[in-house]
Amino acid sequence: MENLNKARQLVQNADTVIVVAGNGLAKTEGLDLLGQEDFEQSFPGVVQKYDVHSVGFALDQHISSWSEKWQLWSNLIQKYSVDYYPSKTLQKLKQLINNKQYFIASSAFGHFFETAGFNEKRIFNVFGDWTKAQCSSGINHGLKDCQSVVQKIAAKKPDTNIEELVPKCDICGQPLEIHLPLNEHFYPDTDANTRFRWFLTGNEDKNTVFLELGVDETSPQLREPIEHLVAEFPQWSYVAADFKQENLLPEIQERSAGTNADAASLINNLVTE
Ligand SMILES: [Zn+2]
Repeated sequence: MENLNKARQLVQNADTVIVVAGNGLAKTEGLDLLGQEDFEQSFPGVVQKYDVHSVGFALDQHISSWSEKWQLWSNLIQKYSVDYYPSKTLQKLKQLINNKQYFIASSAFGHFFETAGFNEKRIFNVFGDWTKAQCSSGINHGLKDCQSVVQKIAAKKPDTNIEELVPKCDICGQPLEIHLPLNEHFYPDTDANTRFRWFLTGNEDKNTVFLELGVDETSPQLREPIEHLVAEFPQWSYVAADFKQENLLPEIQERSAGTNADAASLINNLVTE
């Protein structure tokens, strides 16, 4: 594997690791946004009703009824997040960074890192977390965990009235919607965002490596700005799965390792027993 030794060295020598996770990592955890086969097998009713063939397209459906929205969301969240069991890859990642300072910035919204036991105060879900809900009024009224509602709706019996189960905002009473950027109402988790900024500031002079896992064209915000950030601080370095060394910013080439491995094999290879 290209650059593996360099990647290993950079991670081993780092005091701080900042994991940047994208859609590729979500895939290793079972949530393939654009994958069709698994989706069609699991949700034949959704395929038939809306003529959509992947999670990404299902989430983009414009449905006007709140009970129908929550039914669709609950079925997806139940399968990909409530019933989720952490992969070996995530368990290995934990082993790799557990004894270092770490922070995780993730565009994978399936609540995977939290379920796998990473410190919740050290995770920023950049594009939200669909196990949480936000107010649909357009005003930021905070976030609420919606896993128990999801479970009730997904387990629906013939006499279940979903209308009554649709969660409501504690402040204004409007229906809640899942915490994803599905419309212009999306507010990133401000507390987590602030914690992340403080963490970066506190590590400006520390030996810090950014470990990028499965960032692809679905989350470009997670690549370029971070490369530029690394360029600013000479103690920082960059290790990326599935990314060519020569495509990295010239000024960070020397302290970076782009590898041709996917997220899972990179982590496997970084963990030395
Ligand atoms: Zn509200």
